[in-house]
Amino acid sequence: MKFHVMTLFPEMVEQGLHTSILGRAMDAGIICVDAVNIRDFSEDKHRHVDDYPYGGGAGMVMAPEPIFKCYESLTAGSTSADEPVPAGRPRVIYLTPWGRVFNQKMAKEFAKEEELIFLCGHYEGVDERVLEEIVTDYVSIGDYVLSGGELPSMVMIDAIARMVPGVLTNEESGETESFMNGLLEYPQYTRPEEWHGQKVPEVLLSGHHAKVAEWRMQRSIDRTVQYRPELMDGVELDKKSAKYYRDLLNSEKE
Ligand code: SAM
Repeated sequence: MKFHVMTLFPEMVEQGLHTSILGRAMDAGIICVDAVNIRDFSEDKHRHVDDYPYGGGAGMVMAPEPIFKCYESLTAGSTSADEPVPAGRPRVIYLTPWGRVFNQKMAKEFAKEEELIFLCGHYEGVDERVLEEIVTDYVSIGDYVLSGGELPSMVMIDAIARMVPGVLTNEESGETESFMNGLLEYPQYTRPEEWHGQKVPEVLLSGHHAKVAEWRMQRSIDRTVQYRPELMDGVELDKKSAKYYRDLLNSEKE
């Protein structure tokens, strides 16, 4: 899978992602991250990419033309107002605090694409006209304001790449992680069996797979109810787990 990142700080994106699991996936050719400097597409002699906002107000706005040229260099071809994003073009994600808030379900959906383009804003944001012309998805990573879209694009690329077949090894499988079945992950333990007077739960040492699975499901439910109760609304539980959840709610009421 190929990730293109249109940014003013390509080295930040490249260095930030080329480590650990993603670095290994890049070296193996499973994913590729190509950070492109929007400034290279400025025709201004001082390589400016921003200008004052019409109507006044604080800060600067990223100008449309360098971004558009940068986009065209990635998609080879011209767009027009009639057909802003022709079929076959990769989706273009603009990172913005007013976008749809990113989650695991979106990561899984984006991972089905062969290619994605991310547009990182800076300063006060980006001229609306170029957004209208090239962007297909507006995504936020949370209800707070960051200085640029670089960290959000890196967050998204990490989460999406983990869903691309071959990026995680069997041992690192994402299937049991938080949000994959709609619940938060159960507690994890490793050696030693006793640490600071606390023992690993007995069931995990039993070698009884069904009991371990049941214990993990119940702890996932406990944790989700405690920290993110709103997630329980969208979760499908088997009969046994549904009964456990009902009993838990009833015990909380008493
Ligand atoms: N003036 C903008 C607003 O109020 O919506 C904020 C601009 S912010 C300082 C600069 C850039 O950082 C944005 O254009 C966007 O690309 C990125 N950014 C900031 N916070 C973000 C968030 N929560 N999610 C995604 N991108 C964000």
